[in-house]
Amino acid sequence: AFPPDHPLLRNLNSPQKEAVTHVDGPLLILAGAGSGKTTVITRRIAWLIEEVGVRPASILAMTFTNKAAGEMAERVQRMVHVPAEQLWVSTFHSFCTRILRREGDRTPVGRDFVIFDPSDQRSLVKQVLADLKLPEKQFHPRKVLEVISDFKNRCLLPDEAMEEALDPWTRKVLEAYRGYQNGLRSHKACDFDDLLLHTERLFRDPEVQAAYAERFKYILVDEYQDTNRVQYLLVQHLAKHHLNLCVVGDEDQSIYGWRGADIRNILDFKKDFPGATEIKLEQNYRSTQLILDAASTVIANNTQRLGKTLWTDLGLGERITFKLLDEGRLEAEYVVDHIRQERLRFPNARMAVLYRANWQSRQLEEALRAQNMPYKLVGGVKFYERQEVKDLLAYLRLVCNPFDLVSFRRSVNSPTRGVGATTLARIEAAIPEGGTALQATVALLRSGELKGRAQRELVRYVELFRRAEDEARTLSLSGLVRWVLVESGYVQMLEEEATLEAETRLRNLEEFVSAAAEAESLGLRLAEFLDRVSLASDSDELEEASLLSLMTIHCAKGLEFPVVFMVGMEEDVFPNRNAREADDGLEEERRLFYVAITRAQNKLYLTAARRRRAMGQELLGMPSRFLRELPEEGLESPIRWGTELYRSGQGNFPSQRPSTGGATSVASELGRIRSFFNQVRAPEPPADAAPEAPEPEEPRPAPSGSWPKGTRVLSPRFGRGVITAASGGGDMLTYTIRFPEGEKRIVARFGMLEKE
Ligand code: ATP
Ligand code: MG
Repeated sequence: AFPPDHPLLRNLNSPQKEAVTHVDGPLLILAGAGSGKTTVITRRIAWLIEEVGVRPASILAMTFTNKAAGEMAERVQRMVHVPAEQLWVSTFHSFCTRILRREGDRTPVGRDFVIFDPSDQRSLVKQVLADLKLPEKQFHPRKVLEVISDFKNRCLLPDEAMEEALDPWTRKVLEAYRGYQNGLRSHKACDFDDLLLHTERLFRDPEVQAAYAERFKYILVDEYQDTNRVQYLLVQHLAKHHLNLCVVGDEDQSIYGWRGADIRNILDFKKDFPGATEIKLEQNYRSTQLILDAASTVIANNTQRLGKTLWTDLGLGERITFKLLDEGRLEAEYVVDHIRQERLRFPNARMAVLYRANWQSRQLEEALRAQNMPYKLVGGVKFYERQEVKDLLAYLRLVCNPFDLVSFRRSVNSPTRGVGATTLARIEAAIPEGGTALQATVALLRSGELKGRAQRELVRYVELFRRAEDEARTLSLSGLVRWVLVESGYVQMLEEEATLEAETRLRNLEEFVSAAAEAESLGLRLAEFLDRVSLASDSDELEEASLLSLMTIHCAKGLEFPVVFMVGMEEDVFPNRNAREADDGLEEERRLFYVAITRAQNKLYLTAARRRRAMGQELLGMPSRFLRELPEEGLESPIRWGTELYRSGQGNFPSQRPSTGGATSVASELGRIRSFFNQVRAPEPPADAAPEAPEPEEPRPAPSGSWPKGTRVLSPRFGRGVITAASGGGDMLTYTIRFPEGEKRIVARFGMLEKE
């Protein structure tokens, strides 16, 4: 029925053509990576406009990231000439903003609302918690905000969430939620989640719904597998009137479960829209055969999937290279070397280095800088520019140079010490001629001019700098960094927060300690280390144009690169440990691996390190279980497992596992993640909500490898202590430790203990 040589259909295979030219009625395109789903969406928009004569403004296309939305709009505009403002190709959030700007008068927020960013949200929720007299220690602002966000993603306003608030802690959070919503209203403000929530509420009104369904006659959604409840409902409200809904997605690429995305939305599409046309796309145009085979073989281990075929005629292509390096730094250098080599083969090709979590960028960034190789960090902040890293640097700089007023200002209130603008001004006004802000603070403290919390906390703050000099004489560089983290209260602040964000920040700080340990092994002292860091964080102009991108797998969704490096293929890194405990979690990690593999067009490298530092300690990494799932034929050389894996290496592999203390550091991350989830899912009653190391159920005799009695340790929470007993083993290894404030029992892997 369509002209086969139509320019909009050029090169398309027949199911793709069918999808592009499908006009009315529900359409589901469920297909694997690189099969042209996004291509079909863009061509279909062009087709509707050009061939069917649909007004551009009657088409609504939605996706998840600004980058994806931007690319989609651009592709459409290359095919048909449409003014940008007429095209409704956007993210869910910007679509909703546009709607609320028109219709806001019908919602509690009005049309002229401001959009609160995370720091605005935090101040508001703090205010609310204070009004409700809910202590921040048990109701940490960011944690409360995460719970609120979770409710909003599930379309639940405070009253509707009542049924789920079975325990006292959640009931209190609901009160805070109520107060927070009132606060937003009185500020005439929306947070990001509200944009969707209010629009969804607005669309519940039959009149509005009918009007917008009339307006948006054709709706298209990319990456539908990652829609959450509220996004799902938004689409339903409009689409159920005319059923002209086209969704594309891949259940194997659903990677936002942790944010409330519901894979059932795509799996149930045919139930929601009986009689929907379903089109399968089976030809992959992105990757060569061996890469595609690897992806298919890996994902076949998942149970929660429909299963599909994917083939390519791009030829076998090159085998996947797996390289196990002795340590993280060497892994980063290996990657940089090979980027250089691949550059010779693919001079103008975009390349990507992918990793599971943001902290992993540090060594890569350093290795790239050492070689003057420009790179772009996509969707993230450069390691040395991250807030917590800069906070820590401020302390260290001030230790080195007490005259550094900028670092004083930054460190004095992070963590917050109740030092307001007035107090700060008084301190600065009191700086003696040729003196420092610390001296001024001490003088004000002595004169009794500072009161209350600020007074108490500033005493501890100046004490830190007074003692730092002594500590610097006895402690190693990494030890000093860790000491500063603990004494400043920074670690404690993040641990008490127990949010995913705090978890990420802690991980970055651990990575910073590792950087210090590396510098230490090169014989650097604090000042030299800080110089190195300054040089490493010096930003340069070339980056924007760079062909090399560093990003997490989550950021890489929908993108493709001729050459891809996937680093950190180790257990506990990828799959990330807290995920591997639950089947669902493990399947989501495997989907992430599938996404990572399928970004590669021609060449894929996988790398791992035998040893990695965490909190400055050397840890042994076991190669990721996902490596075992790769088909051997697809690999350049077979992976040797077991002891052979280690014997085959060039480096000196330690003959023994390091003390359990080493394992503690890596595991501590998970402990914290877990305690976060425990508190969100099954929150503790307020009385003992402070995150405490969980007690083991049945202590077993301590195995060898634990620290002996009498070992002096440093705990971020309780300070210095001495081990008086140990029980349990492995994951449950528990120490009884005498601290200045009394004896505590601490599960080794939750405790972030360090040997002194
Ligand atoms: P993902 O699941 O990763 O989002 P996708 O299914 O959206 O992938 P696209 O990004 O649309 O896939 O397409 C992958 C690549 O294949 C792109 O480079 C696209 O231009 C190309 N492609 C798609 N269809 C064809 C075709 N019929 N002929 C040639 N190339 C095609
Ligand atoms: Mg796509």
